[in-house]
Amino acid sequence: MKITEVYEKKKRSLSFEVFPPKKNSELKSIDATLEVLCELKPDFISVTFGAGGSSNRNRTIELAKKIKYGYHVEPVVHLTCLTYDKQEIDAFTKVLEEEGIQNILALRGDRNPDLQEKDDFKHASDLTAYLKQKGDFCIAGACYPECHPESENRVSEIRNLKTKVNAGAEVLISQLFFDNGCFFRFVDDCRIADINVPVIPGIMPVINASQIKRMVTMCGASFPERFQKIIDRYEDNKDALFDAGMSYALSQIIDLLVSDIDGIHLYTMNNPAVARKICEGIRHII
Ligand code: FAD
Repeated sequence: MKITEVYEKKKRSLSFEVFPPKKNSELKSIDATLEVLCELKPDFISVTFGAGGSSNRNRTIELAKKIKYGYHVEPVVHLTCLTYDKQEIDAFTKVLEEEGIQNILALRGDRNPDLQEKDDFKHASDLTAYLKQKGDFCIAGACYPECHPESENRVSEIRNLKTKVNAGAEVLISQLFFDNGCFFRFVDDCRIADINVPVIPGIMPVINASQIKRMVTMCGASFPERFQKIIDRYEDNKDALFDAGMSYALSQIIDLLVSDIDGIHLYTMNNPAVARKICEGIRHII
């Protein structure tokens, strides 16, 4: 099933992101998380691809198959393109077609000095256009409520996003953010620019201090005062930060759900405790 069908049938989607377990741990190590997530009958679960520079293409497909055929939930497979040529992308999509996987999150990928960039795809929009003419896939794309770190300015960011949508991106999933106001302003800008596809907010519950530091370096998400206070107060108290981080994420989700948004996408970090806490918190709301 293509995930666009979800938005044709109902107003809002619930989805999760997981990543393939590391090479030396078994795929079944993610079962505890998937069992909790699938109880809520999500509309789709997305599976990351080579995030952090590691090459785990086969694991991404293995995990997507497990989600589709073991848990009967639609997978969305992430696919980056900066370090691949057309032949390599063709080989990957051939396997997806053989496995009946129809949804791809088409990404450029982060620049990595250790990996050679190739010439076929410069931007996610190039991959999106290529995949659209290659097969019968539903293509999703990434978007950035607070701009991508390489962005020139907000206007060019929205213009480039429009290029991606015109190339065939049918759903947009956002980078994490902690200030819902940023997301609401971003969606308004998209609509003004005539970007009319669903824009799904990505929420990441913060559960430890090193994770917060990594995130700020990576994506530059701004911290509202209320969130900064939580970090200042509980940075060195793991359990308290877990509780406060989960409550903050839940309050963000509820604020989004009571507003006119297209769905919720939760970055689970493969953590069953996070999945359980969030799922319990929204069970009767979603
Ligand atoms: P693009 O859409 O190409 O945008 C990147 C930058 O280039 C932006 O500043 C944009 O404005 C600019 N740009 C775009 N098109 C043009 C153009 N035509 N001309 C000039 N400038 C242009 N990374 C992984 O490695 N694996 C994953 O599984 C993964 N999953 C992700 C999931 C989500 C929801 C998100 C938000 C990100 C994910 N990433 C992942 C990170 C992503 O690969 C990086 O953020 C990457 O740096 C940009 O990818 P993109 O697809 O957004 O690129």
